[in-house]
Amino acid sequence: MSLSNVSQSAQVKVNGSSGKGGDLAATLDKLRAAYRRKGPPTLEERLEHLAKLEEVVLAKKDDIVKAARADFGNRARQETLGAEVMVTVQEIKHARSRLPEWMEPEPREVGWMFMPARVELTTQPLGVVGIISPWNYPTQLALGPLVGVLAAGNRAMIKPSELAPESSDVLQAIVSKAFEPDHVTCHVGGADVAAAFSALPFDHLVFTGSTRVGKIIMRAAAENLVPVTLELGGKSPAIVGPSYSLKTAAQKIMHGKLFNGGQTCIAPDYVMVPKGKVDAFVEECRAAVAAMYPKIQGNPDYTTIISDAHFERIKGYVADARTKGANVVELTKEELMAETRTMAPTLILHPKEDMTVMQEEIFGPVLPIRTYETLDDAIAYINDHPRPLALYYFEDDQARIDKVLRETTSGGVCVNDTLLHFAQTDAPFGGVGASGMGHYHGREGFEAFSKKKTVFYQSRFSGTFLFRPPFKERVDTLLRFVLGK
Ligand code: NAD
Repeated sequence: MSLSNVSQSAQVKVNGSSGKGGDLAATLDKLRAAYRRKGPPTLEERLEHLAKLEEVVLAKKDDIVKAARADFGNRARQETLGAEVMVTVQEIKHARSRLPEWMEPEPREVGWMFMPARVELTTQPLGVVGIISPWNYPTQLALGPLVGVLAAGNRAMIKPSELAPESSDVLQAIVSKAFEPDHVTCHVGGADVAAAFSALPFDHLVFTGSTRVGKIIMRAAAENLVPVTLELGGKSPAIVGPSYSLKTAAQKIMHGKLFNGGQTCIAPDYVMVPKGKVDAFVEECRAAVAAMYPKIQGNPDYTTIISDAHFERIKGYVADARTKGANVVELTKEELMAETRTMAPTLILHPKEDMTVMQEEIFGPVLPIRTYETLDDAIAYINDHPRPLALYYFEDDQARIDKVLRETTSGGVCVNDTLLHFAQTDAPFGGVGASGMGHYHGREGFEAFSKKKTVFYQSRFSGTFLFRPPFKERVDTLLRFVLGK
C-alpha cells in the first residue's frame, strides 16, 4: 500500500464553499473578477495582507496546537509551535522586510544595437492561485505558499487535506478572519473536492503532497495549461561519512526521523553507514532515542501516527521487511498501544531492494540502515533511484562534501544535520525530478507566483529604423559587421 493510496474514513467537513465543482468555479470567478476590478495591490496593501496574516496566525496559535493534537492523536506542542507557527511567521516577517526590494523593477542590459533604448524586468501578480496542501504540517504547508502568493499580489483559494480536519477548520477560521471573501478562500473536503479543485483554470497551482497525486494534479492542470509548482515527496537519504562521529550522526538523524513521528517530507528516509559500523550505529541510535524519549507511550513529546490506515501501512512495511529476512530492531522495550497509533522507533538492518521499506516513502518512525564500502558506492546507489527531496551528509572533510554535492542531485542538502535547510527563509525550497518542480520560500516564492515581464522602452533616437525594408546595402554592411563576415 503506497503512502498516497491511504485514505481515512474521517468525516469530511465542508466549509466556506459547499465544495461542489460548480461552487468552486463560482468562487474562482468571484476572485478573478475582484482581481480585475481592484487591480494589483500596492506594496502597502500587500504588506497589510501579510501583517494581518501574521497577526491572526499568532492569535490562533493555541487553536493550531489543539487542532494538531486532535488530528494526530498526540503531537508535541513545541513541534506544532515550531514547525507550523514559527516557520510560517518567520516566512511572513522575511517577506514583509524584503518585499519593497523584490517589487523594484530590475534594469537589464540593452543590446548595443538598440541603444539608447532601455530594458527592465517588472513583476506582476498572476491573478488567482490555487493551493492544495497535505496533512502532515497542515497549517504551515497551506500558509507557507500563501505568503509568496500574497507577497506577489495574488488572490488565493486553498484546499487543505481531509486527513487533518481539525487543523483545516482552524485554517478556515484564520483565512476568514484575515481576508475578505473575494481575496482568499479555504475549501475543506475530500477526494471529490480535491479533484474538482485541481481542475479549475487557476493562474497558477501549488500542490504539496505525494508524487502519485502530483501526477494527477499535473494532468488536470494541463487541461487548462495551468502552470504548477509541485512540492512532492520521496526517499531522502542520509550518508554517514567514514570518520564522522556515529554518536553525533545518530542523534541528528534520529531527531530528524522522529520529529512529527517521522511524518515529514524531508525526514531522512534511510541511512547509509560505512560497512562494519552498523552495530555501533544502532547502539548510538538507541542511546539517542532514549535521551530524547525516555518513554514512548503517552510521552507528550512523541507524535503519534495521523490515522489508523497510515498506522497499518507503516506496520505493513515493517512486517514485509521482517518476512523478507531483514533484522528489525525496535528501539523501545515498551508494549505500545496500537489504539493510540503509537509506533515504536524502528530500525531495519540490511534491507533488501525488494522490500516495501526500500521502495516506498516511509513517512513514519522507521529507518532502514544500509551499508556502503566506498563513497562512490553510496553516491551510485542514490543516483540509481529517483532524485530525492533532501539529502543529508555527515562529514567534516570538505573535499568529500564537495564530491557528494557535485555528484548527486536533490531538492536540498543539509550537511551535518537534518531538516534545517527547510527553515531558511532566504533560500528556495523545492524538489527535483520525482520529488517536485519549482520552488517557493522567500524571494523564489515571490517570483514563482509573479509574472516576470520584460519591458523595452524605445528611445526617440533609435537607429533600428535602419533595418526596415526595402533592405539596402547598409543593412548588409551592418549584418556583416555584426556577424563578422
Ligand atoms: P496526498 O498526495 O495524498 O494529498 C495531498 C493533497 O492532495 C490533499 O489535500 C488531498 O486532498 C489532495 N488530493 C488527493 N487526491 C487528489 C486527487 N485525485 N486530485 C486532487 N487532489 C487530491 O499527500 P498527503 O498524504 O496529504 O501528504 C503526504 C505526502 O506529501 C508525502 O509524499 C510527503 O512527502 C509529501 N509532502 C511533500 C512536502 C514538500 O514540501 N515537498 C511537504 C509535505 C508533504
